[in-house]
Amino acid sequence: MQRYFISSEQIQGERFSIQGEDIHHIRRVMRFRPGDQIVACDGEGTDYVGELIEVAEDAVICRILRREPSTGEPGLRVTLAQSLPKGDKWEWVLQKGTELGASSFLPFTSRRTVVKWDRAKAEKRRQRWKRILKEAAEQSHRGRIPQVSAVTDWSGLLDAIQEADLALIAYEGGGEPLSAALSRQGASHLLLIVGPEGGWEEEEVRQAREAGAVPVSLGPRILRTETAAVTMLACAMYANGEMGGETR
Ligand code: SAM
Repeated sequence: MQRYFISSEQIQGERFSIQGEDIHHIRRVMRFRPGDQIVACDGEGTDYVGELIEVAEDAVICRILRREPSTGEPGLRVTLAQSLPKGDKWEWVLQKGTELGASSFLPFTSRRTVVKWDRAKAEKRRQRWKRILKEAAEQSHRGRIPQVSAVTDWSGLLDAIQEADLALIAYEGGGEPLSAALSRQGASHLLLIVGPEGGWEEEEVRQAREAGAVPVSLGPRILRTETAAVTMLACAMYANGEMGGETR
């Protein structure tokens, strides 16, 4: 069943309304009619199964048939931090990371970041990233839309390392086996850090370690930055038992 995120203001009694671009999607893309059913998710843990009762140009109204707990949220909060990669790789990581269960994304710049980050276009790019996150969250039945921060600098990343319960930096120069690092108990907020296409400088890894990050190896093969990001996230979800249960 097609899913849409709504805010709590869109829920009135036993009805909810769909607004904005989603109206176009319902009317023109999905061609839904009164009587069809959709799921609205409030982003706070509740899904509303609704029957369309009005499908108009400026408003879509649904009658709530039942409320159900959102089941798509992982128990482990994972932030995926990545030195901004070139081109559409970052958008691919946002989409795949959302499907895999990341709660937030932290793009940053480091010494070998190759992309020239244009601050003038920053907000426009971030709005596009948020659209990608919303669509991926709806498609993968997430209970919340992951957050994406503005692009931060190296000191911003070091601050994030200090705030996380456990921070793992994927280092192509070697480190603790990922399986060992992920078997550490007690972390409710995990920060996974991946370098740019050009990799890390030793000094950066030293500073990250000093801030509390654990350098980890992803094996003897050199993965592309986008591969390393989703691989690390998938392994973290698997190690935390998030790859089980049933979908709905
Ligand atoms: N330029 C580097 C080189 O040729 O050695 C490779 C950098 S790799 C393309 C980009 C990032 O992916 C690395 O900085 C690291 O974060 C991660 N990565 C890739 N392969 C890895 C591995 N085998 N172990 C740990 N991290 C890896």
